[in-house]
Amino acid sequence: MICFDTLKKECEEQGLAPDSVPSLKYTLDEQALAEKQSKKSDFIKAVTHFFDKFGSAFQNSPVMAAATDEHGYILHMIGDNSVKKLVTEMGIRNGVQMTVESHGINSPCLALQYNEPVSVVGSQHFHYSLHNSACYSIPIADTQEQKVIGTLSLMTGVDFAHPLLKTLLIIMKESIERELRLMKQNEQLRLLNDLIMDTTTSGMVVSDSTGRIINTNRALERMLKQPRADLLKKSVQDFPCVGSYMDQALKSGTPRLDIETTIRSESSRTATYLLDALPIFDESGTLAGAFAQLRNITRRKETEQLLLNTEKLAAVGQMAASAAHEIRNPLTTIRGFIQLLEPSFHQQEHYNLVLEEIDRINLIVSEFLVLAKPQATSFSWQNIIQILRDTVALSQPQASMHNIQVTADFTSSPLFIHGDENQLKQVFINLFKNGMEAMPDGGILSVSASANEDREAVLHISDTGAGMTAEQIQQLGTPFYTTKKDGTGLGFMVIKRILKQHKGKIAIKSAAGKGTTITLRFSLQSRPVS
Ligand code: ADP
Ligand code: MG
Repeated sequence: MICFDTLKKECEEQGLAPDSVPSLKYTLDEQALAEKQSKKSDFIKAVTHFFDKFGSAFQNSPVMAAATDEHGYILHMIGDNSVKKLVTEMGIRNGVQMTVESHGINSPCLALQYNEPVSVVGSQHFHYSLHNSACYSIPIADTQEQKVIGTLSLMTGVDFAHPLLKTLLIIMKESIERELRLMKQNEQLRLLNDLIMDTTTSGMVVSDSTGRIINTNRALERMLKQPRADLLKKSVQDFPCVGSYMDQALKSGTPRLDIETTIRSESSRTATYLLDALPIFDESGTLAGAFAQLRNITRRKETEQLLLNTEKLAAVGQMAASAAHEIRNPLTTIRGFIQLLEPSFHQQEHYNLVLEEIDRINLIVSEFLVLAKPQATSFSWQNIIQILRDTVALSQPQASMHNIQVTADFTSSPLFIHGDENQLKQVFINLFKNGMEAMPDGGILSVSASANEDREAVLHISDTGAGMTAEQIQQLGTPFYTTKKDGTGLGFMVIKRILKQHKGKIAIKSAAGKGTTITLRFSLQSRPVS
């Protein structure tokens, strides 16, 4: 029980005079008030809502409500204007802190102090000027955290005082605290929802039952390359890519699942997506909206395609290996006999043509054989510089025939790698041949080899020939890709195959019309002990 006589004595002891007008002691400036209000916006919202609801019970009555924070600062006042005016004259307005020092005995302070509903009616107030008012206050708590966050007060004239007003406050308190709990839970759910939506790599869209888009996520923003704000303005009918499927899901009430669709981006790369569009129903089974999800499966698709190609190539390789052996033997016989028959050819040209064609078949067959060979068998220590020297020497005749100057620049120390001599030679021959074939009217073929800091042998093979476009470089290594009349389009495939077995790396730099530089890198091995 609150004893008002004791409280009044305490006021006097503090030097307050009952005939003075309550005076402001602590007032927030505008900015500090706005900050407090925004921190407690849920509270203010709930107070306004319930005051409007219950307030209709005392329509036209001079009643107003005020909300304070847990320190007694008034954050919000609503209700009857005549009471408001009266109260304002008493120095009670937004931003004012209700204290014993300023207002003597006042209900918000007592509610906070005793943590229970309190009424201060008429002469229970210390100041005479407050004797014609009746005030009721109740503490409001965050029930989850079990801490008081402020008070709710009702104020009226002493003629309207009624114990029921305190009961009303108790009911309002329960409603407000329940509402605050719900708001907090909703906010937590919303945060969780946003977190889930934005951390997933799948694109997501949600529409309401009329087809208006109500939510999308970051992944979708990235996939469609459109800002979320723009996407949220759309409806399913004009929503890119997934909209029409969501529309169907809404209209038919049945899901559309596992649809493959493609989106072409500015860089003209097409990405493949797997799409699901589902209708959403609420607990009563009524259509509430639609949901669509997009997953990028481009990688998976590419890998599948690659596997398919690899399998095809492996099969071709196996067939080629047996076919090549079958072809090669009779070819050797035919070549031999044709040479014997030379005198009986009436025209030398025909003889030459037949021999050339046979040699060409031989070349293709040999390249096929390298491709089909499953593994290099004779790996040993190789000085890669020596192999390069041999290959340069081998290429000299073709070079001088086409007016090509070959320059070599090798480090003085040998560069040892682990590999198969013949296969490495094959790589260099193919690269030199390509370089020289790119310079039919002459040029410079430069070959260099040195070691880098990563313990790698680095080889450069450059020509000053036709060069390649970016698309051409992409095509390199595709079987039978050739731009030459007599080309096989297998050279690069052979190079790549051998490099893979040697764990070698290749980089191609080329500019159409300027020339090409091929860089090869192999891991260096320590010098073998002989
Ligand atoms: P081929 O030499 O039988 O055509 P390759 O696989 O060796 O087959 O080369 C494929 C294609 O790549 C060539 O036809 C050519 O268009 C291009 N190419 C390769 N090397 C070079 C180079 N050094 N300069 C210009 N184009 C090249
Ligand atoms: Mg070639």
